[in-house]
Amino acid sequence: MNDKITENYLGLNIVRRLLIDKFGEDSIVLIGYLKDKDFVSEEQIAQDTGIFYKSLQKSLIRMQDAKVIVCKKITDETGYITYYWRIDFDALVEYIQENVYGMFSQLISKLEYGEELYYCPSCSIEGIVYYSYEDSLDYQFKCPRCGSDLKLLTIETIENLKEKILK
Ligand SMILES: [Zn+2]
Repeated sequence: MNDKITENYLGLNIVRRLLIDKFGEDSIVLIGYLKDKDFVSEEQIAQDTGIFYKSLQKSLIRMQDAKVIVCKKITDETGYITYYWRIDFDALVEYIQENVYGMFSQLISKLEYGEELYYCPSCSIEGIVYYSYEDSLDYQFKCPRCGSDLKLLTIETIENLKEKILK
C-alpha cells in the first residue's frame, strides 16, 4: 500500500503539486520519510530529514487538519511534551483521489450541467487550465497566460487530458 503511493502517486506532477500546495514545500520529503515508519518524534523527523523545524511543524499541522496524519502526544515526568507523528495512508490516498481525480469529475459535471467552458491546450499539462465562457470572451478566446487560442472543452477532451496528466 505505502509503496503504491510513493510509486504511483508521488511521481505524478499533479499529485506533487497538490501536496506542496496544501501541505507545504517539504511535505514530499516528509511523506517519503514517514511512509514506512510508525510514530516518529518531531525532533527525530527534523534530524533525519533536515527539514527546517518551523517548516516541518507547519506541514505537520496542515496534514493534521486534513486528517492524513495522526499525532500522539507524550508528556514525560518533567512535564516535557513530545509529539509523535504517523501518516494515515488510507486517508492520504483518499485525500489525493478526492482532490486530483475529483477535479476531473467536477469538470465533467459542470459540462453535463450545460456550462460552456474553454481550455488552453498549451497550459493544460499538469492540470486543466480552463475559463468560463464570459471570461473567454473577455480574453477574446486567447489564453491570458500564454496567448494560445482557447478551445471548447468537451467530456472527450477531459478524458484525453486526464489520461495524459495522470500517465
Ligand atoms: Zn495557455
